[in-house]
Amino acid sequence: MQLKIDLHVHTDASNDGVSTIYEIIRSAKSKGLDGVAITDHDVPMTDEEAIKISKETDFLVIPGVEISTASGHLVVLRPRRAFPTNPQFLETVKNAVSDGSVVIIPHPTDPLSHGVGEEAVRSVLSFSLPLEVMNASTLRRHNRSAIELAELLALPKVGGSDAHVDTAVGDAYTIVDAGARSVEAVLEALKSGRTSAHGTQTSITTMLGMRWKRLSKRAKLKKARDEVPS
Ligand SMILES: [Zn+2]
Ligand SMILES: [Zn+2]
Repeated sequence: MQLKIDLHVHTDASNDGVSTIYEIIRSAKSKGLDGVAITDHDVPMTDEEAIKISKETDFLVIPGVEISTASGHLVVLRPRRAFPTNPQFLETVKNAVSDGSVVIIPHPTDPLSHGVGEEAVRSVLSFSLPLEVMNASTLRRHNRSAIELAELLALPKVGGSDAHVDTAVGDAYTIVDAGARSVEAVLEALKSGRTSAHGTQTSITTMLGMRWKRLSKRAKLKKARDEVPS
């Protein structure tokens, strides 16, 4: 079955994310997605959380994390260990793959979004990791160069919105040819490279709305901190 899944979404558990997981899922449903992977910055979602929210919302939630490695960002789906802060790229890939997690290289050729770059991608070629070639939050030219790299190296292609606000969820997504509508089946399909990347850039209006919400989130946090009696 062909499932439409956004494999790269941030909730307010990321310090730069502004929407709750429930707002994210409501938006994902309204856009006709079959599932989302939650990939907050260095905050792994546990299997238990994903199962609980999946049941509550009757929606496919894939637990994940976006790790800030020393070389750049790395998405790990269904993480099986606690990763140290700012870990080595190669070691992180090896550990996650040996755990049976799915590892995706997000926005690989966008230096401003902490893409790991071509050399790092080549250094892990033997793992045949999917490249995120359609990221709704990066520039078109970075997606174009990511597609070229994936084709040159014959790597599977995936897409994700990299949304930090609910309204951007699903702007980019992956069609996954999975045996069933389950986390296990989706991860299996990803490991076999049965994917294609789709979508477009998030609109400027949505991006500005996200930035506005981010400013107000930071102002609220600062106010809360200032009000704590010392
Ligand atoms: Zn990133
Ligand atoms: Zn991200």
